[in-house]
Amino acid sequence: MNNTPNPNRNTGGTQRPAQPQVNRNAQTADRPAGAQRPAGAQRPAGAQRPAQQAKRPVQPQGKAPNGKKGGKKNKDLVLAVLALILVVALAITILVCCIKAIVDTVNKNNNTPGTTITTTGTTGTTAATDPVYPTPAPGAWNEGFVTLSKPNTAIHEGDIILVNGDHAYTFPSSLQLVEMLNKSYGWSTVYVLGNGMTYPDGTQKPVELSRRVVADLTAMLADMKAANSTLTDTRRLMILSGYRTLEKQQELYENETVEGLTAKPGHSEHHTGLTFDIRISVKDKPEIEYLNDTEQAWITENCAKYGFILRYTDDNKDITGILNEDWHFRYVGKAHASYMAENDLCLEEYVDMLRKNHHYGLQEPLNYKVGETEYTIYYFPASVENDTTNIYVPSSNYEVSGNNVDGFIVTITK
Ligand SMILES: [Zn+2]
Repeated sequence: MNNTPNPNRNTGGTQRPAQPQVNRNAQTADRPAGAQRPAGAQRPAGAQRPAQQAKRPVQPQGKAPNGKKGGKKNKDLVLAVLALILVVALAITILVCCIKAIVDTVNKNNNTPGTTITTTGTTGTTAATDPVYPTPAPGAWNEGFVTLSKPNTAIHEGDIILVNGDHAYTFPSSLQLVEMLNKSYGWSTVYVLGNGMTYPDGTQKPVELSRRVVADLTAMLADMKAANSTLTDTRRLMILSGYRTLEKQQELYENETVEGLTAKPGHSEHHTGLTFDIRISVKDKPEIEYLNDTEQAWITENCAKYGFILRYTDDNKDITGILNEDWHFRYVGKAHASYMAENDLCLEEYVDMLRKNHHYGLQEPLNYKVGETEYTIYYFPASVENDTTNIYVPSSNYEVSGNNVDGFIVTITK
């Protein structure tokens, strides 16, 4: 009955572990600017200490007037020492800057200069803190970026949320995000709708889907019909299932006879309204059919162009925890769907890959082209210190989605 026990390798590698690692690396690499904890730092640390020590003698500078009474010799001596200290401090600063520049050049992956570690209280416990991102520099890929404040709860919303056995869906307070795909249930020229859900009076409910997917889904079904002569006015595509309530999933889960085919209630992608199941309905035949091989091949090969992915396959069942489902498609948007299809990644692997390889401020973003459209994609972790996250974004032409795990994914369209 349960689909969780599967050894989801995504779970282990995907979530928490990646972030702290990245941050810690950054903290070590970026030490010079912070100069807070010489213990962990390398060359810069040794160089900075004298700089700090140098500050102490500077304090007497304010007391100098008192020492004035001591005579000119003392004054000259103090001035000489101060001058010497200043020269040494300056030399050290220059040296540190040079070393840092060299280190930065060598470690192109770690280009955030301002990451800090803070220690809380006097107990010496080191708390994980947010990376401190530098203001985007002129000429950098992120020049002109501004911060967008998002509540951390928003990591549960968006096109790229990962919903699986380990990551439950967080239902929004209002279901306005989900709307009817077609309020007139029945035969249309292209497809029919039905999801087995009924109104309290027993009448069939039409399929509901997120507004996000309707236009792309409608276009895909029309193109699919045009490309497959087997699809006729009496053999039509059927959107069998779209949005599902928690109660509906509970019912399906309890009645499921095949282990690993139906997600646990609260963990189904169908809760998101971004997912649909597709089958074939033949006029005057009560049985619902599966797509035939050529129809299946067409939608599998072309769905990414419309922003959809075939979510569960034999190849990824050990990762997703769900058995092969040829009929289950999930909307993630065109850029992400195309990248996943081209690189043979399932959603778990993709979310993991963005976190590990395209962490804003620490690594280069993912630049990806679909047709004539260029996309820049990166991961931005949710704040661990605050309830809101200040995400660096351009001034326009971007979208932010949560990953439903630990952060956000920004997609810029050029
Ligand atoms: Zn499904």
